[in-house]
Amino acid sequence: MPLEGRGRLKRPNAMTQARSPQTLARTLLIDADDTLWEGSIYYLECSHRFRVYMATFGCDPDEALRELRAAELEAVPDFGYGPPGFCHGLEVACQRLLTRISRPAGPDELAAARAFGEPMLEAPMVLLPDVRPTLQALRPSSWLLLLTKGSPTVQRGKIERSALAPLFDTIRIEQEKDAAVYHRLMDEFGLDPENSWMIGNSPRSDINAANAAGLRAIHIPHAATWMGEPEEIQQPARVATLHRFADLPAFFGVTSQAGKQ
Ligand SMILES: [Mg+2]
Repeated sequence: MPLEGRGRLKRPNAMTQARSPQTLARTLLIDADDTLWEGSIYYLECSHRFRVYMATFGCDPDEALRELRAAELEAVPDFGYGPPGFCHGLEVACQRLLTRISRPAGPDELAAARAFGEPMLEAPMVLLPDVRPTLQALRPSSWLLLLTKGSPTVQRGKIERSALAPLFDTIRIEQEKDAAVYHRLMDEFGLDPENSWMIGNSPRSDINAANAAGLRAIHIPHAATWMGEPEEIQQPARVATLHRFADLPAFFGVTSQAGKQ
């Protein structure tokens, strides 16, 4: 039993002890970017500014976007997902695009390209509609795990600014969300796959990877899902699609005020 203060035994907390995947009706693993709060729209805005900047040199704007997307994906193994890799990708794409038009990139151009990504390091925190009341409605009957991927520093900052952490039983920031990660979480928390759902906007990392590990999944599409994530849903029989986060309580038969017009 954990010690508290000056060596006193901590009094068991009945509420804490009662909350576990084994004692609640279901486990919900919940994605964060573009599920709980806006994320990709800021990348799209920064990408657009880069596209306009490269066009001032005579580069084709669509080629500029394609080059940026390629450079971003190439940066994932070294930088992970998130703003640091995005900023690196902007520099690399700028260099390649200028070289292609026989105009070697100097430090000023590279710094300018990189600067288009810097607002991402402190992007605004905008929760998606009804997220907080929906989590409050689900919490009494559901064990809630926030599962996100990306830079730990950046993701921790977003979680803090969202003020949603107290509504979750646990929070995990992973480098990738693949079947191995879902298997590890299932083992760690003793999750029953028939009673555990992964909820998110990304077919690749929230839906298909969770299904591959045996979990059920709920897809809540977001119009601005990051370009690295589109993928066909591979096990549609194990996936429900909802239009809004606020539709979750009704899906699980939980009484809720969330989402009422
Ligand atoms: Mg997401």
